[in-house]
Amino acid sequence: MGAALAIFFTFSIFSILIFIGFRQILLTQENEDVKETLFGVANRLNNETGSLSKEAVYMALGGMYTSTPIEMDDEFDQRNLAYGQPSNFQDTIFAKMNEEGVMVRVYSPTSRLLFESKQKDIPFERTAQPVVVPIDINGAQGLQGTMPIYSKRTQQLIGYIQVTSEMANYYRTNERVFFALVTINILALIFSSILGYMLAVNFLKPIKQITNTMNDIRKDTQSTSRIEFAEGNDELTHLSNVFNDMLDKMQQYIEQQKQFVEDVSHELRTPVAVMEGHLKLLNRWGKDDPEILDESLLASLQEIERMKSLVQEMLDLSRAEQVEIHYKNEKTAIRPLVLQTVNNFKMIYPDFVFNLDDAIDGEVYVPIYRNHLEQILIILMDNAVKYSTDRQEVHVSIAVENQELNIAIQDFGEGMTQEDTEKIFNRFYRVDKARSRHKGGNGLGLAIARELLTGYKGSISVNSVLGYGSIFRIKLPLYQELNDQEAQEIENTVK
Ligand code: ADP
Repeated sequence: MGAALAIFFTFSIFSILIFIGFRQILLTQENEDVKETLFGVANRLNNETGSLSKEAVYMALGGMYTSTPIEMDDEFDQRNLAYGQPSNFQDTIFAKMNEEGVMVRVYSPTSRLLFESKQKDIPFERTAQPVVVPIDINGAQGLQGTMPIYSKRTQQLIGYIQVTSEMANYYRTNERVFFALVTINILALIFSSILGYMLAVNFLKPIKQITNTMNDIRKDTQSTSRIEFAEGNDELTHLSNVFNDMLDKMQQYIEQQKQFVEDVSHELRTPVAVMEGHLKLLNRWGKDDPEILDESLLASLQEIERMKSLVQEMLDLSRAEQVEIHYKNEKTAIRPLVLQTVNNFKMIYPDFVFNLDDAIDGEVYVPIYRNHLEQILIILMDNAVKYSTDRQEVHVSIAVENQELNIAIQDFGEGMTQEDTEKIFNRFYRVDKARSRHKGGNGLGLAIARELLTGYKGSISVNSVLGYGSIFRIKLPLYQELNDQEAQEIENTVK
């Protein structure tokens, strides 16, 4: 609305200025007209040599209507003939004299009225110079021009001319222009109001939608309500886009959390149930039976151990989701870490054969926190050992390809179906729940590994054949020495 009023006021001020300018031009025009009539009439009369007489004026002005009729004499006709036919110039003078609201008077040098084109009650005063002044005619402003007439030949004062104009033309045109401007202004007001309203509605629509969506989400956090916006490149479309993305992310996050709590409760149910069973057993008759007592206590302790590892892995998983924020500037040398991990496994599992195929030239660094990469390696090698069958062999290889570090961990164990390979990175997913549980697995190891790698802009994939073994592949970008400017840019994008 404010914009509409602003347009209207600007337009009004503009109109008023135009109107004032126009009036000024018209006034000047009227002034010029009066002067022209004065000089025109004077030109017709200054051929006389002596003081003007009624007849002379009458004849000079070509027999115009006069409100002071004169008596004709013989001379009249002759003189009239002498002036000949009126020229075009004379025509315009007569036309001007006859114009509505224009009065022409001619006086003798002694202020005696000789000629009057119309009868009007306007006083006359002699002047030495031609003058045009504003006067009051019947309450309205008009113009009066007065000038002395000097004979062309003798240079003597032979009379006076008085021209008054009621400026009828001026007032009429003024009125029309005023009316036109007021009409245009009203139209402009209507137009700018409609335009302003439409703009406001258009502008407020997305904001209203944002508010509605926010209200929907406030009432129901599960609501799938989103801002609908037209394709565009303006700020509001951008805002709506960001807002929708944010809602999607938030909802996804809420969903994940919910799922996580459900999974955790589910996972904890088994050890709790096992412990409950043993305690009930003990409570009933195990107290006195040392064999049952021993067995139940051992089983309960095992379950507690499982719960401890589950809690630890859940904590690891939750932390793995935040590596992006907390471990931005880490750097780890690959070869020593892999070598050490393989050696550790050799020590823990002396029955297994561990091969390391090192295809790296010199030292290679990757931007990852050392303990995290170690954790990933342990998860994968642990699985390789866990799910090996007859052939107790694990091959580890490291290589650099396309500015990426590739680590592959291969076993020749039970493998899995294609269907399972697509699910094993999900939380708590185990191909064979009972067997995996028996082997101490919670189904969180691969989920942690993937979460960590994603956080470090890496990836993990698997190839497996049921009954023949699996090969897990990790890819990580290499550590690059950044110059100050690049480091600053990365810093800015992270912010
Ligand atoms: P878990 O703690 O149960 O091992 P993981 O997340 O590490 O949990 O693995 C999920 C599931 O993927 C395992 O339960 C197992 O069925 C399967 N799996 C993982 N690694 C291997 C492997 N090397 N060979 C065969 N199956 C595997």
